[in-house]
Amino acid sequence: MSSNVAQSYPYTTETESERALKIEALTLQFDGLRDRIAAESEPVAYDDPEEPGRPNRMWVFVCPKHVSGRLHVAGYARERHALFAVCDEGGETYLR
Ligand SMILES: [Zn+2]
Repeated sequence: MSSNVAQSYPYTTETESERALKIEALTLQFDGLRDRIAAESEPVAYDDPEEPGRPNRMWVFVCPKHVSGRLHVAGYARERHALFAVCDEGGETYLR
């Protein structure tokens, strides 16, 4: 698979609902992405439940390949202690 540990840095954060919507949209946009995420990562989980007005947030990273691409976390990598992230421009995946 094309996943590699990316030299990318945090750009911003997004709420859990923003993240879930973005990943859902990306899996519809890029063929095979849903299968790749399922095969290579565990679903995102948070230590604390969401509270009203205080949603859980996840990092968004800058894509090392696409200037305007952002990496959204799709899950936790199965093989390594890393985040499994998807570029919203090219659909490629990274371990962070
Ligand atoms: Zn990219």
